[in-house]
Amino acid sequence: MKKKFKFKKSVKVIFFLLVLSALCYFSYNFFANNSDVTNGDKESENSDATVDKLTKLGFSNGDITLLKQYLSESELNLIDIYDENVVNFVSNSYFEIDNLERYISYMNDNDYDADEVVTYVNVGIDKPFYTDVKTISDPDNILVLCNKYNVLPSDYEPDDLTQVGYSGIYMRKEAAENMYQMVLAAQSDGLKINLVSGYRSYDYQVDLYARHVRERGEAEADRVSARAGHSEHQTGLAMDLSNDWSLEKYFEDTELFKWLSENDYKYGFILRYPKDKEYITGYDYEPWHYRYVGVEVATVIHNEDITYEEYVMKYLSN
Ligand SMILES: [Zn+2]
Repeated sequence: MKKKFKFKKSVKVIFFLLVLSALCYFSYNFFANNSDVTNGDKESENSDATVDKLTKLGFSNGDITLLKQYLSESELNLIDIYDENVVNFVSNSYFEIDNLERYISYMNDNDYDADEVVTYVNVGIDKPFYTDVKTISDPDNILVLCNKYNVLPSDYEPDDLTQVGYSGIYMRKEAAENMYQMVLAAQSDGLKINLVSGYRSYDYQVDLYARHVRERGEAEADRVSARAGHSEHQTGLAMDLSNDWSLEKYFEDTELFKWLSENDYKYGFILRYPKDKEYITGYDYEPWHYRYVGVEVATVIHNEDITYEEYVMKYLSN
């Protein structure tokens, strides 16, 4: 009898242990699932915190919905300033969150619309010329951007300089060949292209710029002449053209200029310093200065009617 009782007791113990372990198993799963829910909550808490922050900064619910449409959570978190134009900047496909403060202050200081501001700040023209100058790492690249923010190494000289026809004027081989074809094409249309200035060395540019400074002072010299290392002529990809031998504004009224405006891109050339774009290119209008970029790129620039700085920003950065 006692034994039977004992047996019954141990069955109870086993049963109890089974129930206990089943309980442990289910409760473990329950809490594991629950902790996932907790993580999810955390995410939405983060998102709520971001919304709170943006609201406190002054953004409306409508603004925030729009910001969320264009920016990731981490980008949203980087916004720490309210400005009514932020919503206009973010929809631009070239918007960069790191430039936000520069967009805002450039917008406030100028009369441009939001898209123009994004473009110009990305190009870098909100900073004074010759500040934050970067040394060009691939000067041999046909698409090299050489301007007042990007300088060529002082010892850079292209190793494929080639004479254009028998002009005694040199460019990089590919540019020289295309320039020669353009000269022949103009000629067959009854127009003579005079090649005034092609490749110029760093040292030559040092003297040329110094002469301009002596004659006009630094500010005016900077509008019309490049400081050494900043001249496209050192790349071997630029050429100054003329109907006579002068380089003057009246060139824009000539038949030759009209012909070039319609045909230059077919030979891979662009007008590098167009009219009314000084604030982007950093140079006064130069109807005579042409830059080789290859037919494909020149065609895009021709069709979109943009400067080379804008092309680089749109198609070549990141
Ligand atoms: Zn030039």
